[in-house]
Amino acid sequence: MRCQKMAKEFVKDVTAMDEDFAQWYTDVVTKADLIDYSSVRGSMIIRPYGYALWDNIKNELDHRIKETGHENVYMPLFIPESLLQKEKDHVEGFAPEVAWVTHGGSEPLAERLVVRPTSEVLFCEHYSNIIHSYRDLPKLYNQWANVVRWEKTTRPFLRTLEFLWQEGHTAHATDEDAMEETIKMLNVYAELCETILAIPVVKGQKTEKEKFAGAKATFTIESLMHDGKALQSGTSHHFGTGFAEAFGIQYTDKEGKLQYVHQTSWGFTTRIIGALIMVHGDDRGLVIPPKAAPTQVMIVPIAQHKEGVLDFAYDLKKSLGQVARVNIDASDKKPGWKFNEYEMKGIPVRLEVGPKDIENKQVVLVRRDTLEKVIVPLEQLDTKLVELLDDIQSNLYNKALMHREERTSIAENLVELKETLEAKPGFIKAMWCGELACEEKIKEDTGATSRCIPFEQEQVSDKCVCCGKDAKQMVYWAKAY
Ligand SMILES: [Zn+2]
Repeated sequence: MRCQKMAKEFVKDVTAMDEDFAQWYTDVVTKADLIDYSSVRGSMIIRPYGYALWDNIKNELDHRIKETGHENVYMPLFIPESLLQKEKDHVEGFAPEVAWVTHGGSEPLAERLVVRPTSEVLFCEHYSNIIHSYRDLPKLYNQWANVVRWEKTTRPFLRTLEFLWQEGHTAHATDEDAMEETIKMLNVYAELCETILAIPVVKGQKTEKEKFAGAKATFTIESLMHDGKALQSGTSHHFGTGFAEAFGIQYTDKEGKLQYVHQTSWGFTTRIIGALIMVHGDDRGLVIPPKAAPTQVMIVPIAQHKEGVLDFAYDLKKSLGQVARVNIDASDKKPGWKFNEYEMKGIPVRLEVGPKDIENKQVVLVRRDTLEKVIVPLEQLDTKLVELLDDIQSNLYNKALMHREERTSIAENLVELKETLEAKPGFIKAMWCGELACEEKIKEDTGATSRCIPFEQEQVSDKCVCCGKDAKQMVYWAKAY
């Protein structure tokens, strides 16, 4: 029962999730030291702890992107206006939210420049210069970059004027090759979310209304947050030859005929940190799955002024460093302060060690997900710690999956859909006729949007949830971030 009083006082600083989820989120992102606000509206400073988290996610994804044969490149930040306008749907989709550069110093520019909201057109221009023959295909490029979208309402990680991401852009000889690539990368995102971030996802296709501006088809992974709202967690687009035709990206095939390339693009952003917070967090703050955590174990020495305690703790840090990412807080702050701080930061395991533990050849491990405490003999520490980290990882995934299943309902008509969304916010599985009018009416009446047409289809009814006509597909509906 170390420092229980202090723990209570500290926890008061965070709004309870069930009281006000939006405020809880804002409290956590700042108190866990992930971000700070900047003087530009809607822009955030990613603090060292937030950036370390992004670095881990980035490294995991970058490794997978390279393993699947892609190469990293870097495109310019600016796009000439004329280049952006080459593909009609694309420019229409992005025009309302682009930031313009009109001057260089005090001189007006001959042509306005756009700060990239995404880099399709830059890749297309480049591809039109470097792709000539079937031997040049496929081109599998990816870039890690920042992009700017002038959003009206913003929230840290979820929607900011500037965010970090990777955007893959590929060119292929055939439609089948491009389709295979699109699904391959969607699966990479899904696997990353499920195994590293412990976030279960639903894979599917976006409706025509929700697809990317200029794409032939958009595929998505959707996850469900603690409050029952959905979050689009990664998208992969099949462009067909639309961009290639607009930009003249052609190659000579084996028969000597000129052909347009088939393209894809796919993106994964810092938004996922918002998902991580909202899927796993609790009233004490963040809960980070071990595989994503910058620090997996935080050592907190107890009575560290006593002889031998700090030396012992540092030795532990060194030896455990072989099996996990371990850190130590040897500052003169009180242990109770440290306990709360690392609970707030969601560090998976806290290791306490004091004079008594040293005498008894043991340490205390406290897991962040359940707050359970175990005493572990030193000779078993390596093995027990690895087991514990694995157990936390799978517990978090299972908990999130169970939550999603509890919050997934079926609706057969519009009244049912609306009532269910109010009584039990979450995913609603419902049949759809395929008409835009129904999709729009559902949004207008209930606030829910179509999240995806899942790959795993079920026949939950025969009729469209909105108009009652014959249904074509089952769709996941939800209110979304
Ligand atoms: Zn309908």
